Amino acid sequence: MANEQQLSSVLGEFARTMITDFPIQAILDHLVTRIVEVLPITAAGVTLISPGEDPRWVAASDDSALRFEKLQTELDEGPCLLAYMTGEAVSVPDLRTDSRFSRFTPRAVEAGLGAVFTFPLRHGDAALGALDLYRTSPGPLSASSMDAAQTLADVVTAYLLNAQAREELSDASARSHHVSVHDALTGLPNRLLLLERLDHAVLRARRSGKLAAVLFVDLDGFKLVNDLHGHSVGDELLVMVAQRLTAVLRPGDTLARLSGDEFVILCEDLDGAADADAIATRVGAALATPFFLADTEVEVTASVGIAFSGRGDQLSEQLLHDADTAMYQAKRGGGGRHQIIDIREQQHATQQVTLERDLRGASQRGELRTEYQPIVETAGGRMVGVEALLRWDHPSRGPVSPAQLVPLAERSHLITDIGQWVLASACTDLQRWNGRQGEQEFVLSVNVSAHQLMAAGYAASVAAVLDDTDTDPQFVTLEVTESVFVRDGERALVVLDELKRLGVKLALDDFGTGYSSLNYLKQFPIDVVKIDHGFVADLPHDEASHAIVFAVIELAHMLRMTVVAEGVETAAQHEQLAALGCDQCQGYYFAYPMPADEIDTLSRGSLVGGAAQLPAGAARGASIAR
Ligand code: C2E
Ligand code: MG
Ligand code: MG
Repeated sequence: MANEQQLSSVLGEFARTMITDFPIQAILDHLVTRIVEVLPITAAGVTLISPGEDPRWVAASDDSALRFEKLQTELDEGPCLLAYMTGEAVSVPDLRTDSRFSRFTPRAVEAGLGAVFTFPLRHGDAALGALDLYRTSPGPLSASSMDAAQTLADVVTAYLLNAQAREELSDASARSHHVSVHDALTGLPNRLLLLERLDHAVLRARRSGKLAAVLFVDLDGFKLVNDLHGHSVGDELLVMVAQRLTAVLRPGDTLARLSGDEFVILCEDLDGAADADAIATRVGAALATPFFLADTEVEVTASVGIAFSGRGDQLSEQLLHDADTAMYQAKRGGGGRHQIIDIREQQHATQQVTLERDLRGASQRGELRTEYQPIVETAGGRMVGVEALLRWDHPSRGPVSPAQLVPLAERSHLITDIGQWVLASACTDLQRWNGRQGEQEFVLSVNVSAHQLMAAGYAASVAAVLDDTDTDPQFVTLEVTESVFVRDGERALVVLDELKRLGVKLALDDFGTGYSSLNYLKQFPIDVVKIDHGFVADLPHDEASHAIVFAVIELAHMLRMTVVAEGVETAAQHEQLAALGCDQCQGYYFAYPMPADEIDTLSRGSLVGGAAQLPAGAARGASIAR
């Protein structure tokens, strides 16, 4: 007879397991072990049954019980199955006299079994399986033991259902995890999983001293395939590419699809760069045969960028980024090739990003300023104007040249604000210079980049600055380069006309460097032509330069334009320019670019060429002049 106290302590144990993450097998094992201790039986077993499937869960208190459980499953017959199917307890107090199980009984008796009592693990109308109690000697179980066993079976069923639900949940979450880290189209790992594996690979590489490589594979002209044949063909191609790339992998390598036509191969345990090179070559070869897709034949190549782990504290994101950069290097090289990351180019790219970020706050932090370079009359050296030149004093790098700064500002869409700031502060300085009694007024030249000029509302923004600073437009010249005409001549003409209507003058800067079409001079409302350094430098010894400068001056004069020579550095250049009738000169021979306050003192007299005449701050200008 079941000891009530023991039974309640077993129930208590189950109650405690309920709140822990007890797995199914552990619940069953616990049940069979404890019930043998509580009830007058020799062994116990339990089998969970799912129709049409082999039992996944079996527990037994000893080998004999296990044998009887298996025997019933094998024979598909026995008290266990009967209890399971009827939902009622089955009592076989004496196996020798029982005739219900014609196949099971003789073998069980032969194995020494005397009595068996089975209890369904009931769940509503259905059952999960059965609890089987075995005894070597025949004889019945008391009613209270039968009740205790069924109670235990019922309680255990409740826990099993709970554990089963938990398992299904974790299976489902494993499935949904699988979905969340794989790409739906190709079934390959996605970026998330790749980064996870990369993290591990980077750590392992650091420990093992071997290399891990990331190969960034991007198809060349994939967009064209989509455009020409449609997206479903594009998708089909991606799936086939994924298959071919998979064939290239070695065991342990990872192939992932990041997005679109971007695949990444992660290889570990490489001895050197040559290993990665070999894999990249195999990638190229794998794609070499044409793809046959929905009755079209498509040929593709790939650009592959390779980066290696192993640089100290490098992060996996960085590694991926490096491989991506290398891939672009391969693309720029014409595609259909692979490229190992060029660290110098990469450093340059990183530098640009940092610089761009720094530039964002530069004007608020007061790091931007303007310098001015005098422009003088060729004959006599009288100062007739200044050109405003942008300066950026970077707190750690020192001066950043405008040649670097302006393209950077254009790329980061800061040029409009910066240009506006240059114009406003230069106009303010001009007001001071031109406001002085009894002195010759001079002209301010300000550079305008093509991006700036073409931006919506440029002319209106100039008008606003002129108005705010109370500047007389006739003393302002805006310098543009030929690139504005090439980019969008019609639009340029519209904007230049708007500017002309404001009353400002227009100069064509760096003339001769770009597209050098004398036609521009005729077509656009230009007032001033600035002949580029290059021609001026070559003037004394190069006849062609001499001829070009001569022609430009003649033509410009015919069109009533003023000619300024840029980059005049020597007396010889100055003399020749004078002989050719060039109107004005600008260059180190007369003065370096200088801060506004030095212009204040300078503007009182004429500038005579030669180093002796240089202003005090000249050296500063020289250090950043191009
Ligand atoms: P740029 O408009 O042709 O300006 C003349 C450049 O030649 C200046 O370089 C000046 O310092 C330099 N220079 C002057 N005299 C000599 C000389 O005798 N020999 C030599 N070798 N160089 C001389 P900087 O200041 O480095 O400016 C470079 C370019 O950056 C400018 O060429 C202009 O295109 C652009 N830039 C400068 N400031 C601005 C600005 O505020 N806005 C825009 N959009 N561009 C600017
Ligand atoms: Mg200029
Ligand atoms: Mg120039």
